[in-house]
Amino acid sequence: IHPVHVVGAGLAGSEAAWQIAEAGVPVVLHEMRPVRMTEAHVGDGCAELVCSNSFRSDDAETNAVGLLHAEMRRCGSLIMASADRNQVPAGGALAVDRVGFSDAVTAALSAHPRIELRREEIAGLPPEDWDSVIIATGPLTSPALAEAIRAVTGEDSLAFFDAIAPIVYKDSIDFSKAWFQSRYDKAGPGGTGADYINCPMDRDRYEAFVDLLLAGETSQFRDWERNTPYFDGCLPIEVMAARGRETLRHGPMKPVGLTNPHAPDVKPYAVVQLRQDNALGTLYNMVGFQTKLKYGAQAAIFRTIPGLEKAEFARFGGLHRNTFLNSPKLLDGTLRLKAMPRLRFAGQVTGVEGYVESAAIGLLAGRFAAAERFGRPVDVPPATTALGALLGHITGGHLAEDGTTRSFQPMNVNFGLFPPVKIPRVPGVRLRGKDKTIARRRAMTARALADLDGWLGGPALAAE
Ligand code: FAD
Repeated sequence: IHPVHVVGAGLAGSEAAWQIAEAGVPVVLHEMRPVRMTEAHVGDGCAELVCSNSFRSDDAETNAVGLLHAEMRRCGSLIMASADRNQVPAGGALAVDRVGFSDAVTAALSAHPRIELRREEIAGLPPEDWDSVIIATGPLTSPALAEAIRAVTGEDSLAFFDAIAPIVYKDSIDFSKAWFQSRYDKAGPGGTGADYINCPMDRDRYEAFVDLLLAGETSQFRDWERNTPYFDGCLPIEVMAARGRETLRHGPMKPVGLTNPHAPDVKPYAVVQLRQDNALGTLYNMVGFQTKLKYGAQAAIFRTIPGLEKAEFARFGGLHRNTFLNSPKLLDGTLRLKAMPRLRFAGQVTGVEGYVESAAIGLLAGRFAAAERFGRPVDVPPATTALGALLGHITGGHLAEDGTTRSFQPMNVNFGLFPPVKIPRVPGVRLRGKDKTIARRRAMTARALADLDGWLGGPALAAE
């Protein structure tokens, strides 16, 4: 059997290669690191996490990304299996030791008899004799390949900016002021209910902190970058602060669900949270503190946070570009480029957002390419599943809940992408508000997993 070529061994490419190989088709996986690095990756491992170490909520009943986790596990996902084996405590979230996780993915791919990993940049359109290619080169696709894709699609690729959060050494945090606690003491997988480090602020400190953020020096945009919008889920902290003095208190610095043991009677006005970043528990990232402040300004401003006065930073926050296709226009329903169907796309470059979503699209692209190689019909997942909802978002096949078509913006998986569901009626019970939302989500997730099992050809054997 001719191999399928996968370009990029990130979250999407690693999963795609795995799915193809597991289906019985040989794969050549081309990864440019370490020969050529990106602005964000630091090593040569497959599926390197470039910022946060969180795969977000693992709740498969009422959370859309938790549902996506569950669906991917049922599909034999390498990314999920490696994440599950390298968990670190993070409340209700699935967070991983980033090195252990990437090592596990790299080892599994390297050991697979049907996968050949080549360290090389594909610096233009893939050779014509590669009849099946998956391009999974991510938000930091190398410029030569990005330009070749742009030329073949005949339009400018859309671009926008994301920012990354700083990481602090735990032993530089002052625990006479900071304390360990998860919001509402929630204990998730492997967690204790005290997984986050919290740094409290009173009102004066908070107001002064907002002033510093607003005055802080940021890295400059180049001309062509000036009109590039941010993705809303990853706004820099100083941009959030500029939207209103209360924005941070209602966002990443929410003081709710937390009690300061050093001053139990004083309710903090705002709280900065840090989440464990490695298995050893020596590094913590500042949750929601992505920033484009200059490094000097970051050190000066973040050291005014109570508990972080002597903080040492393992990595400062930063700014990065993102590149994605106008997929609903350019890709067909199985992720092939209409203008050149031997090329399939996967991952963030298709206009999904996030580690899990990128890997999920890699999973689908891999399955589609393998089916095609065997001459089987390419069967897409039902629109009622998280996988199908995401695919629908990028290929434009589905309607929004209100029946209108959506304009194309990169998106995390969310319940707004799913078709409506009827909530099972319980005689005598009239659900309202939050209870109704939760009931609707439960109905959607139950329907999704049942439909996924149907798509997979019966209940999966994989243990959850
Ligand atoms: P990647 O994981 O980036 O993989 C692409 C791979 O392709 C890389 O290994 C790269 O070296 C390789 N490559 C590129 N060009 C070529 C070429 N021409 N030839 C061969 N190989 C090539 N998502 C989150 O969920 N949480 C976050 O905190 C988060 N933070 C982010 C921070 C930054 C700085 C960036 C850039 C993105 C962030 N994202 C985050 C978004 C996104 O989920 C990740 O970028 C994710 O890794 C995307 O997966 P991917 O497989 O599409 O791309």
